[in-house]
This record gives sequence, structure tokens and C-alpha cells, in this order.
Amino acid sequence: EFKALGLSDLMLQKVAEIGYVTPSEIQKGIIPVLLGGSDAIGKAKTGSGKTAAFLLPVLQRIVLGELKKVLIISPTRELSMQIYDELLLFSVNGIKGVLLVGGKDMKKQVQSLATEYNFIIATTGRLMDHLQRGNLPLNDIELVILDEADRLLDMGFLDETREIMDKVVNKKQTALFSA
Ligand code: AMP
Repeated sequence: EFKALGLSDLMLQKVAEIGYVTPSEIQKGIIPVLLGGSDAIGKAKTGSGKTAAFLLPVLQRIVLGELKKVLIISPTRELSMQIYDELLLFSVNGIKGVLLVGGKDMKKQVQSLATEYNFIIATTGRLMDHLQRGNLPLNDIELVILDEADRLLDMGFLDETREIMDKVVNKKQTALFSA
């Protein structure tokens, strides 16, 4: 049951609303670890429920005031858009994310960075673009999630990912997912 994983009533209500009944394997493994504030590595493919495995505990910690800013990096705009959509699905207490992916208007992304947000959901490429233009700081990011880290490497984003991670100077927690 989701309840046994340590999720709050608010998050359990959200899970029930969406219609998830049984947590998947990756959710059973990852949710308690991320709730506890530890680093995590998850072996999970698309379809395993990995997105909810990190979004649910992170949203709960934001609601509790334990976390403010989270960066979620993925190799492709499709994956980042899926993560963003799932965040909209789960969103509680008006918690917002900013989506930074290629192929979309840079100016609009800059405008959304001027609003209140808790999540940056980005591809490495577009995030680097914004960083080079000085559009956002990363020193307020406390948690970094690297999704499909194996593909990040396969697609040649190791240097960019390192550069991004070096800028997250106040990082307290990291979670990495790989197929
Ligand atoms: P993901 O692996 O995160 O891309 O998730 C794959 C799909 O499974 C998404 O459409 C989710 O909405 C759905 N999903 C995630 N967790 C559960 C669950 N515990 N029960 C049923 N469906 C789920």
C-alpha cells in the first residue's frame, strides 16, 4: 500500500484521486528513501512508475517546508515534458514547475523563471543555454534528480551534466535513475 511508504494524507488523497492503488516496485523502493532525505539510485525503465516514485516524496517534502527548489534533468524534451505533465497531475498546494526544453520560446521560459516555482524540469541542452545567458541561478537548488542517466551518457551529455552539477553548490540530495 502507498500508506506504508510514509506518504502524508494529502499525498495519499492525491494518489487515490488519480487512481493508483498499488505502488510499483520502484515506488516501494524509492519513496521512503527520498522522504528520508537520503541520496538514491533507482534502476527503472519508462513504464515502471519512476516519475511518481520521485515526484510524490519530493512534493510531500516541499509541502512540509523541508525542500524549496528541485532540479530534474533528463536527456530529451519528450521525457522532460512527460515529467512536467505528471507534476501537473500530482500538483498540490499550487506547487509549480518551470519547463526548460528546446524547441520552445526562450523568452517565455525566461518569463516563467521570474515567477514563483519549486521545480525546474529541464533537458541538459536547454538548461546550459539558459545558464550561459545568466537566466537562472542554481545555487538555490537543494535536490537534483537525474532521470534516464544512462541515456544522458549515451547521448554525450556527460560534460554538460557535470558542468550543471558543479553549479548546484548547495545541493543536499541527489537521486539518479537509469534503465
Ligand atoms: P513512468 O514509468 O513514470 O513513465 O510511468 C508510467 C505510467 O504508469 C504513467 O502513465 C503513470 O501514470 C502510471 N503509473 C505510475 N505509478 C502507477 C501506479 N502505482 N499504479 C498505476 N499506474 C501507475
